[in-house]
Formats: sequence, structure tokens, C-alpha cells
Amino acid sequence: MTEPESVVLGAGVAGAPSGGWRTATVAGVRRPVPRSVQLRLDVADRVDHLPGQHYVVRLTAPDGYTAQRSYSVASAPGDPLVELFVERLPDGEVSTHLADVVEPGDVLEVRGPIGGWFVWDGVSPALLVAGGSGVVPFVSMLRTARALGRTDLLRIAVSVRTLEELPYAGELVDAGALVVTTRESRGIRPAGRLAAEDLVPLWEPGQTAFVCGSASFADAAGRLLLGLGVAPRDIRIEQFGPTG
Ligand SMILES: Cc1cc2nc3c(=O)[nH]c(=O)nc-3n(C[C@H](O)[C@H](O)[C@H](O)COP(=O)(O)OP(=O)(O)OC[C@H]3O[C@@H](n4cnc5c(N)ncnc54)[C@H](O)[C@@H]3O)c2cc1C
Repeated sequence: MTEPESVVLGAGVAGAPSGGWRTATVAGVRRPVPRSVQLRLDVADRVDHLPGQHYVVRLTAPDGYTAQRSYSVASAPGDPLVELFVERLPDGEVSTHLADVVEPGDVLEVRGPIGGWFVWDGVSPALLVAGGSGVVPFVSMLRTARALGRTDLLRIAVSVRTLEELPYAGELVDAGALVVTTRESRGIRPAGRLAAEDLVPLWEPGQTAFVCGSASFADAAGRLLLGLGVAPRDIRIEQFGPTG
């Protein structure tokens, strides 16, 4: 773990550069959660990312057909490898290939890091609200906060169908994240969707609220925050669209 005083967040990433296509060698493949894959990539000529940024992965078929999709970075900037977490969507063009076919040693084409708005600056208080795999950029923020010794700045709420399906469940629970499950009861809490009363204890004026997940989740969570009186300028939303 990097010592807090040695961390300089954003060093060398001014202007959120994306650069051109680079090669990434797959260094690790894990499947800690059903129907998902965690990829650890050794990216050539890598540029440090900010927590919340993403990479684009491009696949090319033998006939030259290409498909590209965006994937948030889960790792902290100090990690020597770039970690992605991909949920396998039924019939998904790219996610099925990454989840079912990719092996250690494979070489992927990637471009990034990308995004200058959905990023945490490492010094401001933030409320992070995720639906399912939308938690991935928040894992990078949490890991960064740990490296900075500033986990006190982050409040995390996650909605997922079952705890078994939650990516990075152990890290998130250890960090005190609120985990709401829609398909199973947890403790005294019955199965159910994230509600305004879940967010009330987590919201404090001065926070930036980051929301990430499917379009429907992002829409619902954004409405909850607005209902709590959070100003639109304090809400940042990233949607994981079907062809994002
Ligand atoms: C900034 C950003 C960050 C992201 N980060 C992540 C991340 O960290 N992890 C992650 O898992 N995802 C992430 N995504 C989503 C990701 O980019 C892809 O959208 C996702 O992996 C699906 O791609 P796919 O090619 O597998 O599916 P697609 O081929 O795009 O299909 C998606 C779904 O739509 C269905 N579908 C496709 N076409 C049709 C059609 N014509 N009619 C009806 N249904 C259809 C498919 O069956 C499938 O279930 C991110 C997206 C963005 C924009």
C-alpha cells in the first residue's frame, strides 16, 4: 500500500488525456462474481488515471470487423496494472468475449484513460451511489482514498440483486458501504430497492454525489437525490448503456 504522504493524485494526468490505441497484455483473469470477469491488464506506455475514469476496449474480428466498449477502471492510480470488471450481458457482443474467451497472455487493444468529469479529486467529500456493476469506478475511488488515508471523505451506497452478485463485496462492506439487495433480505432489511431514507444518513451538504449504473438505475437514483434537495450541479451521473 502506498503511504498517504507519497500519493500525488493526478500527477501526469492533467487534461484527462486519452491518447491513441495501446496494447494491453492480460496479466490476470478472475471470476469472483457469477457472470462477470475481472481483468488485470499490463498497459503499454500507460498514463496514470484518475479514479472514475474509464478505458475503451476494442475487439477486431479476423474479417476486420471491430467493436469497442467502455469499461471503468477499478484499480487505484498507484496499482501497476489496470483492473477492469466486466459484467457479462446475455448476447452482449463485447462483454461475452471478455468474460468467456479472454485468457492470461492475450493482447487487447485499449484507449485511455478517458473522462475528466466523473472523477474524484481525492480531497472533496463525496457520496457514491451505485447500481450493480456501476460500483466499479467507486472501487477505484475507494482504493485511492485508502492510499491517501482519506476514506472518511467517501460515503457509499450500493444496490444489487443479491450480495453474491456484488462486485468487490468484501472491500465495500469493510469500508462501511450500505448494501441494499433487491432480491434477497439481509438481516432485518427485506428485499427492496434503494430508497430516499437509505440516502438521508449518508448525504451531507458539501458532498458531490456520484451515481453510476444502468440507465434506469441512474435515473431513479438521480431522482432520489433531487428529492433530498441535492442541487443538480452537485450530482454527476455515469450510465452504463447497452452499447456504451
Ligand atoms: C463510461 C462507461 C463505463 C462503463 N464501465 C463498465 C464497467 O466497468 N463494467 C461493465 O460491465 N460495463 C461497463 N460499461 C458498459 C459497457 O461499455 C458495455 O455497454 C457493456 O459491457 C455491454 O456491451 P456488450 O457489447 O457486451 O453488449 P451489447 O452487444 O452492446 O448489448 C448489450 C445488451 O443489449 C442487448 N441488445 C443488443 N442489441 C439489442 C437490440 N437491438 N435490441 C434489444 N436488445 C439488444 C444484448 O442482448 C445485451 O444484453 C460502461 C459504459 C460506459 C459508457
